[in-house]
Amino acid sequence: QKQSSSSSRNSRILVFVRLRPMMKKEREAGCRSCIRVVNRSDVYLTEFASDSNDYLRLNRLRGRHFSFDAAFHETASQLDVYSTTTADLVEAVLQGRNGSVFCYGATGAGKTYTMLGTVESPGVMVLAIKDLFSKIRQRSYDGNHVVQLSYLEVYNETVRDLLSPGRPLVLREDKQGIVAAGLSQYKAYSTDEVMALLLQGNKNRTTEPTRANETSSRSHAILQVTIEYRTRDAAMNIINRVGKLSLIDLAGSERALATDQRTLRSVEGANINRSLLALSSCINALVEGKKHIPYRNSKLTQLLKDSLGGACNTVMIANISPNNHTFGETQNTLHWADRAK
Ligand code: ADP
Ligand code: MG
Repeated sequence: QKQSSSSSRNSRILVFVRLRPMMKKEREAGCRSCIRVVNRSDVYLTEFASDSNDYLRLNRLRGRHFSFDAAFHETASQLDVYSTTTADLVEAVLQGRNGSVFCYGATGAGKTYTMLGTVESPGVMVLAIKDLFSKIRQRSYDGNHVVQLSYLEVYNETVRDLLSPGRPLVLREDKQGIVAAGLSQYKAYSTDEVMALLLQGNKNRTTEPTRANETSSRSHAILQVTIEYRTRDAAMNIINRVGKLSLIDLAGSERALATDQRTLRSVEGANINRSLLALSSCINALVEGKKHIPYRNSKLTQLLKDSLGGACNTVMIANISPNNHTFGETQNTLHWADRAK
């Protein structure tokens, strides 16, 4: 049931990096910045930060330089980030293609801010839906687009509905691919309503029992937006098209990286983020052009099988903190993002 006529040419993964601002608390605690965004696409990472104007000259040799499709400075707005990273995918989804956008990074690096944002500064999830509605409205010929949302969590290899919390959902394979059986689908009408829905959903994300004040650092939140519409093919037959956009606020990368070097077995035993490791394996396999992509290794990659690689558009936003105390995590995130290019 491949209605989409999109070509099967390989699409590269677009990789972006976003630096969050230093928090007041951090500055007061004497933290210094270990990151500098130097133009539209480059970042320098250095352990020996300096605020002087000689920064680059002093550190270029000692620091490490990374280059991405775009690098967002701490002053970049939510709209800047949305327009550069995701707007094209929204257009593609309206043509019946699938796409996915991931935020990757350590806990506290700005993933949830980028994806969900706040009521005052809505993030990629909300801006994408807003843009989708306005694009549909512009196309006067279609009064027949149906937009549906689902918001789910993968925590500890258990899939849960964030909009209708209850029992874990079972993944099933049907004609359309792998689906979470019983997952609720919301028909969306307005942007305000979507923000309220997502904020409520985020409250339902699993929090760490051992770290009461640290929310959802091991939970992946996945918003899936499905657009279904009727159009005519070349022979003027009416056909149904479906495009799906998946927006993913990934679990914190710090633990997965801490155990990356161990054997897969100890990873399983410790129940460390299997989905995050599996996603890395899939992305590396896609980037290397491998035939076999190991989607089956985790719940997250099974759920995203039809939205990752192949003819899909895939975007990765690596979130980083400027705080020199988390230098190691930032370095890991940048290396990870570098490998996804
Ligand atoms: P994560 O989801 O990666 O753990 P958060 O998105 O919760 O991190 O960000 C940590 C803190 O930093 C939050 O208080 C958030 O509001 C703030 N923050 C993150 N990115 C930005 C940004 N670009 N501008 C302003 N505040 C930000
Ligand atoms: Mg978060």
